[in-house]
Amino acid sequence: MAIKGEHQPLHILFFPFLAPGHLIPTADMAALFAARGVKCSILTTPLNAAVIRSAVDRANDASASGGAERAPAIDIAVVPFPDVGLPPGVESGPALSSEADREKFFRGIQLLREPFDRFLTEHRPDAVVSDSFFDWSADAAAEHGVPRLAFLGSSMFARACGSSMVRHNPVEAVPEDEPDAPVLLPGLPHRIEMRRSQMMDPKKRPEHWAFFQRINAADDRSYGEVFNSFRDLEPDYLEHYETVLGRRAWLVGPVALASKELATRGAAGKGKGNNGLSPDADGCLRWLDARPAGSVVYVSFGTLSHFSPPELRELARGLDMSGKNFVWVVGGGGAGTEESESEWMPDGFADLLARGERGVIIRGWAPQMLILNHAAVGGFVTHCGWNSTLEAVSAGVPMVTWPRYADQFYNEKLVVELLEVGVGVGSTDYASKLEARRVIGGEVVAEAIGKVMGDGEEAEATRERARVLGEKARRAVEKGGSSYDDLGRLMDELMARRSPVNV
Ligand code: UDP
Repeated sequence: MAIKGEHQPLHILFFPFLAPGHLIPTADMAALFAARGVKCSILTTPLNAAVIRSAVDRANDASASGGAERAPAIDIAVVPFPDVGLPPGVESGPALSSEADREKFFRGIQLLREPFDRFLTEHRPDAVVSDSFFDWSADAAAEHGVPRLAFLGSSMFARACGSSMVRHNPVEAVPEDEPDAPVLLPGLPHRIEMRRSQMMDPKKRPEHWAFFQRINAADDRSYGEVFNSFRDLEPDYLEHYETVLGRRAWLVGPVALASKELATRGAAGKGKGNNGLSPDADGCLRWLDARPAGSVVYVSFGTLSHFSPPELRELARGLDMSGKNFVWVVGGGGAGTEESESEWMPDGFADLLARGERGVIIRGWAPQMLILNHAAVGGFVTHCGWNSTLEAVSAGVPMVTWPRYADQFYNEKLVVELLEVGVGVGSTDYASKLEARRVIGGEVVAEAIGKVMGDGEEAEATRERARVLGEKARRAVEKGGSSYDDLGRLMDELMARRSPVNV
């Protein structure tokens, strides 16, 4: 058996959940570790490997051209998705179109334990960064004596809210027929109050509730947790995590920003972040080049959110009424709509698009990092997925928040009430694709856009706060910044564990 000593690089296995919102930040995080000399493996299935392949190649190229401090070594260990009767090509969150497929998918997820175990036996990495959604990986890693670092890809704030929810179940005390009644989340650094309808209802979703409890318990008995966040963003929640929840946390983000910086240092990267998937990136950027600074609102809802035809119609009306230029991603990474555009496009909107002056629609995958960092973009209508939120924070762009489910309502709270870098459209219903929700009128959408992009002192102040936060984010990932140092501390600690009994 090979004895690992200080002369051998650390080896970390990354094991992301099978959805772009988990894979992309994991690949970006691996790039950061690799740039500091860590050997990184990412265990995933073929179609999910394709989502991160270009980001991984870019990280490796950046190092080869001398951009990184030491030669990186990220490899993707590809294993087949277990045969659970899903159609070919269905092996990630956005590809699931029915409850039955969803059930099979989660059965397949359980069966990934076998290749995970095999990897740990064969390679004996120094640590594993496992998605929290693989709750079983806590026991598997413990059996192999490998420290497990949990990663969910959410904010510390949302994790703290989720943990309060799991511990106290405050929803239960509020009657079901009072959807707008306030629910207070106990034990948090701030008074955080949600509407009942904005929260997951444990009674309606017992299997989700049990899943959240398992995740929470697995993360609790793990070595610690890595966050795509930075210390200046949510300091009270870092303290809460450490002192109240008694967990260890390392904040190494914003990872998309840090890995973009790395890629710009390499000749091959040209700062493209995770955007190798966008064939028409250049066309979109040329369109933005011809627009005045801060004049464009970017609209995208990640890879999983679904908008019904009435919602899409109101959104289109809202964009039109806002008077702002816009780039609207319809169906980004599989999200959006299967309905034909004629079903929801308001009269005159197609003409507006055809003229090509006011706005463009991107069908498919948008180069989000490049768009958000373009000078023409002055606002972002977002579902508050944590990656998108943090990408906007990093770019210094204020947000119009439109959460749908999962951690998104919590992230909205953070953005609108704590950080004050966004304005909500008044989304009220925690609902999945298959469930109905209240439709928000175009007038409301236009008004919210005006509140972050318009004239007036409040809008100015929101933009200024967003700009300042963007600067803090950039400082965090620079050499000597808090995220850069947290990553170094974690590496040192993992290396120090290599005492003779650990090798
Ligand atoms: N993304 C992108 N182009 C698209 C759609 C999504 O680059 O057309 C990226 C986006 O930049 C972010 C991720 O996909 O990094 C989506 O993650 P998020 O947490 O925002 O939302 P989710 O899809 O998980 O709901």
